[in-house]
Amino acid sequence: MIDSRTAARLRSHFRAAGSITVLTGAGISAESGIPTFRGPEGYWTVGSQSYHPQKMATHAMFSKDPLAVWQWYCYRRAVCLQADPNPGHRALVEMERQLGERFTLITQNVDGLHLRAGNSPSRTYQIHGNINWMRCSMECSAGIYPVPDFIPTAPVSKTTDTGLLEKLVCPECGSRARPHVLWFDESYDETFYRFESSLRTAQKTDLLVVVGTSGSTTLPNHIVNMVLAQGGLVVDLNITSNLFAELARSHQGIVLQGPSSQTLPEIVKLLPR
Ligand SMILES: [Zn+2]
Repeated sequence: MIDSRTAARLRSHFRAAGSITVLTGAGISAESGIPTFRGPEGYWTVGSQSYHPQKMATHAMFSKDPLAVWQWYCYRRAVCLQADPNPGHRALVEMERQLGERFTLITQNVDGLHLRAGNSPSRTYQIHGNINWMRCSMECSAGIYPVPDFIPTAPVSKTTDTGLLEKLVCPECGSRARPHVLWFDESYDETFYRFESSLRTAQKTDLLVVVGTSGSTTLPNHIVNMVLAQGGLVVDLNITSNLFAELARSHQGIVLQGPSSQTLPEIVKLLPR
């Protein structure tokens, strides 16, 4: 439960803020049952070797063994498609509906749950991509396409379809398609990941709500520090204490410890109608 003093502060900040940004990470999806894939559940066996996700999710690995990388993404996509948006996701849809153009959602999650819940693609910046989409590995265009329906979505541990690669091709030029996700050995950009748009949004953000992310990747760190530097308020929602909670605390921000599937709906109830 949000205490009355914090509720009053939140209410007045939501009323006064010109631009409100929500930054989400793995925590909000974990509450829908999606593992982070950075932990032990992310290991993947190819032949006799076991690979860490930080090895699998790389352009280097895709160049070396595209079939193994696609098999891994098919499995991960199946896990994501089995999960449903939770009350935290739905609260953000309601927040967007109420705040309109004052609202931007920046997400590190590739599971697509925010869009499935109903947030608009134009106001949702998927800075690490979306596992349900693919694009040309030769970058013949900036096109992004849904992963075709015939790609297995059963919760299999590993698809045995070795003909996957022939089916996963760029609809424009016929080259090999790749998952539309930012890999560990790649950089953010505007075309695919809304990098500059995210920074521009951070620059004008008066109120930043950070949900279920601990500050381990560079762009989220940058966004939080930009908002703090210009005197914006940071609200941190997380089940555990983390770097962003400490930053919020040391800048007169608000920290709500607990599952975001509970705290986000409570915050939405405070929005001025
Ligand atoms: Zn192409």
